Amino acid sequence: MIPNLQHTSPVQAHYLDFLNTLSRRGFKGDISPDYANRTVLATDNSIYQVLPQGVVYPKHTGDLILITQLANEELYRDIVLSPRGGGTGTNGQSLTDGVVVDISRHMNQILEINVEERWVKVQTGVVKDQLNAFLKPHGLFFAPELSTSNRATIGGMINTDASGQGSCLYGKTRNHVLELQTVLLDGSVLNSQTLDAQAYEALAEQQDRTGLIHRVVDSIYKEHKTKIDEVFPPLNRCLTGYDLAHIRDENDQFNLNNILCGSEGTLGFITEAKLNLLTIPKHSALVVVKYGDFEKSLRDATELMKAKPTSIETIDSKVLNLAMNDFVWHQVEEFFPDDTAEPVQGINFVEYTADDEAELDQKVQTLLHNLKASVADPNSPRIGYALAKGSAAVNRIWGMRKRAVGLLGNKEGEARPVPFVEDTAVPPEHLADFIMEFREILDAYKLEYGMFGHVDAGVLHVRPALDMKDPEQAKIAWEISDRVADLTHQYHGLLWGEHGKGVRSEYAPQFFGELYPQLQRIKATFDPYNQLNPGKIATPSDEHNLLKINEVTTRGELDRVISKQSWTQFEEAVYCNGNGACFNWNTADQMCPSYKVTRQRVNSPKGRASLVREWLKLLSENNFDTVTAAKRKSALTAIAGLPKRLFSSLRKKLGVYDFSHEVYDSMAACLACKSCTGQCPIKVDVPEFRSKFLSLYHTRYMRPLKDYLVGALEFMLPVCAKFPGVYNFFMKLRFVQLLLEKWVGFVDGPLLTGTRLAGYKLTVDANGTQAEIELASPDKLANLTQEQREKTVVIVQDAFTSYFETQLVIDTIQLLKQLGFNALLAPYKANGKPLHVHGFLGSFADTAEKNAKMLNSISACGVALVGIDPSMTLTYRSEYKKYLSKQAMPKVELLQEFLDARLLAANTNAEQSIEFKLMPHCTETSNAVGTIKMWQSVFTKLGHSLTILNAGCCGMSGTYGHEARNKESSQALYQMSWQKPVEQHAPSGTLLATGYSCRSQVKREAGEIILHPVQALLANITVS
Ligand SMILES: Cc1cc2nc3c(=O)[nH]c(=O)nc-3n(C[C@H](O)[C@H](O)[C@H](O)COP(=O)(O)OP(=O)(O)OC[C@H]3O[C@@H](n4cnc5c(N)ncnc54)[C@H](O)[C@@H]3O)c2cc1C
Ligand code: SF4
Ligand code: SF4
Repeated sequence: MIPNLQHTSPVQAHYLDFLNTLSRRGFKGDISPDYANRTVLATDNSIYQVLPQGVVYPKHTGDLILITQLANEELYRDIVLSPRGGGTGTNGQSLTDGVVVDISRHMNQILEINVEERWVKVQTGVVKDQLNAFLKPHGLFFAPELSTSNRATIGGMINTDASGQGSCLYGKTRNHVLELQTVLLDGSVLNSQTLDAQAYEALAEQQDRTGLIHRVVDSIYKEHKTKIDEVFPPLNRCLTGYDLAHIRDENDQFNLNNILCGSEGTLGFITEAKLNLLTIPKHSALVVVKYGDFEKSLRDATELMKAKPTSIETIDSKVLNLAMNDFVWHQVEEFFPDDTAEPVQGINFVEYTADDEAELDQKVQTLLHNLKASVADPNSPRIGYALAKGSAAVNRIWGMRKRAVGLLGNKEGEARPVPFVEDTAVPPEHLADFIMEFREILDAYKLEYGMFGHVDAGVLHVRPALDMKDPEQAKIAWEISDRVADLTHQYHGLLWGEHGKGVRSEYAPQFFGELYPQLQRIKATFDPYNQLNPGKIATPSDEHNLLKINEVTTRGELDRVISKQSWTQFEEAVYCNGNGACFNWNTADQMCPSYKVTRQRVNSPKGRASLVREWLKLLSENNFDTVTAAKRKSALTAIAGLPKRLFSSLRKKLGVYDFSHEVYDSMAACLACKSCTGQCPIKVDVPEFRSKFLSLYHTRYMRPLKDYLVGALEFMLPVCAKFPGVYNFFMKLRFVQLLLEKWVGFVDGPLLTGTRLAGYKLTVDANGTQAEIELASPDKLANLTQEQREKTVVIVQDAFTSYFETQLVIDTIQLLKQLGFNALLAPYKANGKPLHVHGFLGSFADTAEKNAKMLNSISACGVALVGIDPSMTLTYRSEYKKYLSKQAMPKVELLQEFLDARLLAANTNAEQSIEFKLMPHCTETSNAVGTIKMWQSVFTKLGHSLTILNAGCCGMSGTYGHEARNKESSQALYQMSWQKPVEQHAPSGTLLATGYSCRSQVKREAGEIILHPVQALLANITVS
């Protein structure tokens, strides 16, 4: 039995008092001093982990004024605050041991747009892709680009002065900031923008914090202009934050925004921003140029830049190989044909954009002509090329490139790629030489690494692989940091060319030299008591210290505490590196419905992985062996433990604290949809470690009745199906429904169809030929000839389709027969997925073994096994893998895999080609990516067309939507993602869905019956 984890690091009394006073003064947002919120917000994407005292989520600017006014009171001048947006920083920028102020949860509204003048006003919690999706219909976009655009906020971008691909043309975030509203630490509000002399004077005369700031910053500029010009390198990636070189613009106009942009939350809370917009270029094209040598690709990039493209990016073979094994590859593989004689070691992406198509074509053709000649030349470094034309194709390639930083973290073993020198910038003409020296440093330590960069801007991304749990390897990180900082200095470059300074501010005095005290003056004017993100960029005086790279607690130091066996047991969780890809803003994307619907970071894959890591750490500190505890107990031991479990559960009811409850609550909100499993660049697999957690949690606490009901469902249904009338009668009784809801926690249970499959009579062709549904058995199959076996397919049953949607099984067999296959039905056996979802892992292993044995005995006869429901079918490849040996795994195909591989085109006639729309199941979309396209191919072969609608999650996901505690969020998810496309397409009868859960959700929420693709085909083909 797991121990009670009562003792977590308590919130300091002074901070608790601060948070309570905040609440009493009328703070409208959320105040979260709980250990779960503190744990999850203790990390970003850096190597550091710093536990805050609490997290607050302001509702509006008024809340931030309250916070700063209170923090400015003498009693609270030692309270420190750290603003936070998406939390995707790579250098600990938003980490603090004080209070995290997370602006992203509530302050994420787009406030105003002026299309003629091309500007937009937003709250700073808006995510960059959210903004561009809003702007697209107006033909406009917010230009600064960054890889984390689907989760990084405008506030975070402004505060790191973010930029990325295309920065040579579009510049950095600060180049597009028109006005900012900032809440200062005395509770006053500063509005900043470009000022002419008169406006500047008016503000500088004010006798308040705003006036003082203007006077101090201007005097720095005037007194140190010559030195400033001398110190700051004239790079595209010029300084980020406290940008002394741009206090005044080329027209000598004062602009405080250039001090605020990149200030990493050390000067104030930026609450609103007015941003400059550009028109979306009408045409774009991207040429993929391949090389047999990475260095040559870097050197050639300088040559290619002469052709004046919009941007050039380089990746190495490591990054390319990682992308090839990622779900994103299916979207881009056509542009990477395997057509070169030697292996590809480097790639340059050369992008052109233009409003005039002829102009674009001319540029591209010139390059292609040039490439054709050089590829034919054996002395040229270029070995191949491909063209992607149009914004959709170009965006797909950039989408792949955007995942590259995240993918760099995806590596087997304990040494994992970590960020600490990952965004150096040097003058582009020296990049290749710089990289060669950089490589020498890394190679001297025999480290593994992948590289890619914005070669046009001289920026290199690299994450060397280190096991930060090992103190010796951590030392290497510090040594490399020092050496790379020197190297960038030597090349007149920057250590922080893109991702900001954070903990690396240690190098600021070295970099700024004589100007560092001027940075301190700025900090002292904005934040005299060093309360805002202290230790980063600059301190208000020498009395305070900057953070040091090797003095802030690293994740590795804490992970070291977790016992080796627990670490390995929970391998699906522990490697999460916090890159935040699971905070994807887009509701049409599958990635994490439970985060999207609750907007709680604790309910995200990162949240769950962070909580489990902390839980394992606490258990290890208690010397608890999770591996032994997870071993199967005899029934007797389980019964003997019952009184203790009852007692612990009673204490839980009485409110006795245990950190495990916080972890449980987060796990309970998970839909087990497996989108994280498929889409997380690090392959964090929440459903797997959630099951392991649940199985251990319930060694101490009783399970809810609903778990037993759901776990037993697959076994009960065949029995209930013998008396469908009785079952349905009871399930329809209001009293029974209330009982199930209140006592068991189960709602809206479906009714049995009552149709028996074995022996069911089908009509298999237009002549009315009758056939029966037959059960497959090894004996029966043994009599088939080889030719017959090749034509035989056995449908693997799952409980939900067979008992609640029996007609679909019938239709599937009928369609297969009509298409000329000998379709049989496998005997029914439980698949075990519901057991796995609820953490009955011992029973799941038994069930999987029995089912696999039966299925293997059938497939051993040389016939295909095919499942209808994608989620249940994919269990055979995913969940089964962890519990069965490779040889024992049954090979069960998805329907579309079978059909696409076996169907020859056009042995059928469609009277009239119909355009269908398909909404695939989440698990299928994210875990069997390439298979969705197969449905399109099948429809085309059978004379119809199919458009895939990506709408995110329907909200049902197995039994999640049937659990009383989840009903509201299940419905909210439906409204967020599926409602609109269903309303638009269902009435025409052309909307299809592959998932049983999805169809039942549509039936429950919209009262619409939507068909499975098989049923649409059956109704609309005639076999010739
Ligand atoms: C895989 C990966 C790829 C990346 N690629 C890029 C890239 O291509 N280009 C790039 O520039 N960066 C990149 N980054 C770094 C990071 O995404 C950016 O720095 C981003 O701008 C941070 O935004 P955020 O909303 O996550 O901010 P956070 O990380 O939450 O915060 C960043 C800083 O801004 C401050 N802050 C946030 N909001 C406010 C506010 N409203 N007021 C005051 N201060 C605030 C915080 O205190 C912190 O100092 C990458 C990171 C990862 C993990
Ligand atoms: S769960 Fe995956 S996507 Fe989310 S932060 Fe962790 S590693 Fe990144
Ligand atoms: S399984 Fe689905 S709901 Fe659960 S964490 Fe993963 S993506 Fe989120």
